[in-house]
Amino acid sequence: MTDKNAQHQKRQQKVKAEVDKRIEQAQTEQGILQVITGNGKGKSTSGFGTVARCVGHGQKAAVVQFIKGLWECGERNLLEQVGVPFAVMKTGFTWETQNREADTQAAQATWQQAKQFLADESLDLVLLDELTYMLTYDYIDLDEVLETLANRPKMQSVIVTGRGAHRRLVELADTVSEVRNVKHAFDAGIKARAGFDY
Ligand code: ATP
Ligand code: MG
Repeated sequence: MTDKNAQHQKRQQKVKAEVDKRIEQAQTEQGILQVITGNGKGKSTSGFGTVARCVGHGQKAAVVQFIKGLWECGERNLLEQVGVPFAVMKTGFTWETQNREADTQAAQATWQQAKQFLADESLDLVLLDELTYMLTYDYIDLDEVLETLANRPKMQSVIVTGRGAHRRLVELADTVSEVRNVKHAFDAGIKARAGFDY
């Protein structure tokens, strides 16, 4: 064996031992609360990727969309076909929100649906897409959200997406990822694309 090969093998053995040790140590069986935040593109995509992963294992997932999309949603078109229930905020809030009262009502109604999912033991995963904005705008009570998340069924995982995640939500979460914006096609004047951006 060449020196380089031997060195590589030694290094990999060390890595494997380290990883094996950590796998051995992770013994707690419970659902995971994940927050995907930051200004870069890929938060909702990542959440939906995990929904696909869950459904692909024959498990049950539900999705709540807290912002009425400007466009239809490719993931919804697909996932509804395989029986994933969606609760979508139909009226009120968009990025151009103007009417605070209507928005609050719409957010509250959607939150009630989210709460039903978060009490449903048969659901392995609940995606709360763009929930962070409802907290930023104070449309939904932060304490109530944190309490509901903390008291959800023990094996249920939850993913919250959206920019500017509240510090207390980050504290409660088990896994937090921040997607940083390095560059975005939109800034170069490239239009959002069906099948890529939505
Ligand atoms: P995606 O749904 O593509 O994963 P996201 O959930 O991370 O994006 P949002 O803040 O929810 O991002 O924005 C949704 C839409 O805005 C998407 O069409 C996305 O391409 C676009 N977008 C995301 N990040 C940026 C950015 N930094 N600049 C401009 N547009 C963005
Ligand atoms: Mg998003």
